[in-house]
Amino acid sequence: MFIIGLLFIKFSSGLEIDVNTFSNYLDVQNKHIHFEWLLNIEKKQINATANYKFHVAGSSINKICLDIKDLNIYSVYMDNGHLLHHIIDYPYVNSDQGQRLNILLNREYRRGEIIMLSIKYSIDSRSESVSFMNVSQTSTKSMPFLFTQCEDAYCRSLAPLQDTPAIKQTYSASIIYKNTEATDVFMSADESQEQFKIQNHPQIDPNFTWKYKYFIQKIPIPSYLIAIVAGNLKKVPTSNGDRTFLISEPDKINEYKEELKDMEQFLQAIEQYIGPYTWGTYTIVILPPSFPYGAMENPLLTFASPTIMTKTGSGLYVAIHEMAHSWFGNTITCVNWGNMWINEGFTVFLERKASSFYYKVPDDIKLNAIIGNASMYADILNFGPDSNFTSLHPDTTGINPQLSISDVPYEKGFQFLTFLEGIIGEEDFKFMLRSYLATYMYKSIDQQELQSFIIRYLYEQRVDNYSTKRYQILEHWDSWIFQPGLPPIRLDFSTNKLIETQQYTTSYILADGRQPDHYDDYFNFYPSQKKVFLEELFKKAQNKELKQQVIHQIDEDLKLTDENDYELKFRWFKAILTAGDRTRFTKISDFLGSVGTCEISCPVYQALNELDHEFAVQTFRTHQEFYHQIVRQSIKRILEKNSQIQQ
Ligand SMILES: [Zn+2]
Repeated sequence: MFIIGLLFIKFSSGLEIDVNTFSNYLDVQNKHIHFEWLLNIEKKQINATANYKFHVAGSSINKICLDIKDLNIYSVYMDNGHLLHHIIDYPYVNSDQGQRLNILLNREYRRGEIIMLSIKYSIDSRSESVSFMNVSQTSTKSMPFLFTQCEDAYCRSLAPLQDTPAIKQTYSASIIYKNTEATDVFMSADESQEQFKIQNHPQIDPNFTWKYKYFIQKIPIPSYLIAIVAGNLKKVPTSNGDRTFLISEPDKINEYKEELKDMEQFLQAIEQYIGPYTWGTYTIVILPPSFPYGAMENPLLTFASPTIMTKTGSGLYVAIHEMAHSWFGNTITCVNWGNMWINEGFTVFLERKASSFYYKVPDDIKLNAIIGNASMYADILNFGPDSNFTSLHPDTTGINPQLSISDVPYEKGFQFLTFLEGIIGEEDFKFMLRSYLATYMYKSIDQQELQSFIIRYLYEQRVDNYSTKRYQILEHWDSWIFQPGLPPIRLDFSTNKLIETQQYTTSYILADGRQPDHYDDYFNFYPSQKKVFLEELFKKAQNKELKQQVIHQIDEDLKLTDENDYELKFRWFKAILTAGDRTRFTKISDFLGSVGTCEISCPVYQALNELDHEFAVQTFRTHQEFYHQIVRQSIKRILEKNSQIQQ
């Protein structure tokens, strides 16, 4: 099926609307929010006040609607103390997107007016964005732990918000916490020495010693980039420069510091391509293993899974990816989740440019593009090639946008940009991206705005062959964006390294259980080449060419079942399960109980489920408490493909 030019509703600015917010953000827009949070990590509770500064953008309004999910709302009042009536309703009862908080204003407000109001509320363990972890779930086993994950539409369970990437606001926060529950607290904002009055806070129990911290984020950001982490945490500078820092539990910090010693160089490699980093400092937090993603680009404070720490540096591309989000995603943001590739495709593109500058590995961009293409292909098959979710413009109306997320916006987005770079030329494309950043700094945009910008830029710069380039871009634009399935144009990422790796794989298949000559070439492969080898093995397994005796020989030679690198290990398990291997179930179950990142555990669950549904369900039941709620839902969806799984 070929769908072009779907009718996306646009508002007066010409941008698409966000169908995944219940807020009336076109009429009234939040400009600043100040949080006062009293953390009770052990009790899994946060007592909160949020103070807002709204600006009326429509002609007149008499109510403000905000997104909420599973929050306890106590009162809403104006800055003069006047209480406001509020009603909670459920616009889409079955859509898993939460509720709408309707605040009825005391009078009609007209365009240009400012409305200051506050909401008292609390957060408990139902919150999907806040993970309250027990002492036993941490590395040092000394204190409980708290972290948040708001992307994509989960911030509504952290605070009542206009929970849409279309709205950007500055924020500040006063955080109060017990010194027995956290040595420190950090947010996606700068720390400030500003004092605030908390001594008479009614919730403060005098039997404990309390600590206070104040944060401010002066750059306007969308709600999904608000983040907090608290626990037994230590912050240290990385080895070089004074811009980059590392935070983790203290027992692992030296090990992580060693592996992250080149963070400053990563930042410089990105700047070399795209221009200066404008956010100030850059810090990466290595979280406990149940963090649901490889990493999350919270501004100033990337959250990362410990799976990226492989001791060999092979997972550091994730850190480069998150840094690259400082430009694409955090500076320019998609206007809704249907345009997510505007965040992710650009970030993958910049990540691969910077990685190639830094690592200087020949053809590394191509090898990583091949690996990315393989995981995108798996996602396309899972959705079905006609599914609208396999396009660069998924329709997320009436659903939790999380359901549409896959490698498609990352990899098809990357391939589309590579295609455009091929038309425009490498140098011109680089300068165009720099101009794009300057033009839309701290704004949210959609694909149509991007297209208009590119054409306008090429015209204004009087590039060679402007008419031909314009024609080529416009001719293919809609099929890249709206057509489901594989990219409309197949790009050639083949390299000698790919051929070499394919030959190496075949040599194992042909050896049929014996050790092939040069088997130890593997130990000199680049990290990306090792992944390509394992993806090739997976293809052999799908074609039923990977026999049991070959699996055993490879494992004996390369020790993949006991590999420390999660990215290699999950690909190995995926391949051997697809080949029908049942001899490593215990190790696979242990592996699945140690990694909370869906990018790594979900493909293994999928292969395990296809081979042995019963064992896959049993494994999930054993480990489900360990997983983050987002990952738990994703795994359940995989297991439900065979049968209904009981809670
Ligand atoms: Zn990303």
